[in-house]
Amino acid sequence: DPRLERISSAIRVIPDFPKPGILFQDITTLLLDPKAFKDTIDLFVERYRDQNINVVAGVEARGFIFGPPIALAIGAKFVPMRKPNKLPGEVISEEYSLEYGKDKMEMHVGAVQPGERALVIDDLIATGGTLDAAIKLLERVGVHVVECACLIELPELKGRDRLGNKPLFVLVKV
Ligand code: IMP
Repeated sequence: DPRLERISSAIRVIPDFPKPGILFQDITTLLLDPKAFKDTIDLFVERYRDQNINVVAGVEARGFIFGPPIALAIGAKFVPMRKPNKLPGEVISEEYSLEYGKDKMEMHVGAVQPGERALVIDDLIATGGTLDAAIKLLERVGVHVVECACLIELPELKGRDRLGNKPLFVLVKV
């Protein structure tokens, strides 16, 4: 798809952020290019519009940028998957491991219903731990996760394998 070239060149790479040795993929420059931003949303919408998806679950923080326009376009609700202690209502949470230590992801109780069909969206998959936690949270309450979608995959980290047999759709591999 010719749109992928523009999207890929609109993502900025910043060395040594947030730590020395890390090449940070920065999508804020993509947001500055309305054509590339729209093409990004369109590619996801074209893929998911006819899949009876009722839930777009966006992972904090950049899943909150890409998830809502996709949800609106396909007629789904948007559900934020948040870092701990951010959601005001009753939550269910899922712990997951990071490179060093642990983190937790939370979702509001009652945001989704058993049998609903979800798309999970984030900007980037590295080790896959974050998306795996989001899938587990949704599946624990009986939601069917149709697919995970990201703008960027770092294939060397094999995050895809951590998602088991759950399909993963990405626009750009780095
Ligand atoms: P994982 O759990 O190892 O797959 O890491 C993915 C999470 O870390 C996602 O929520 C990303 O937003 C974030 N992340 C890791 N590396 C980068 C990067 O280079 N750019 C932007 N986000 C990143």
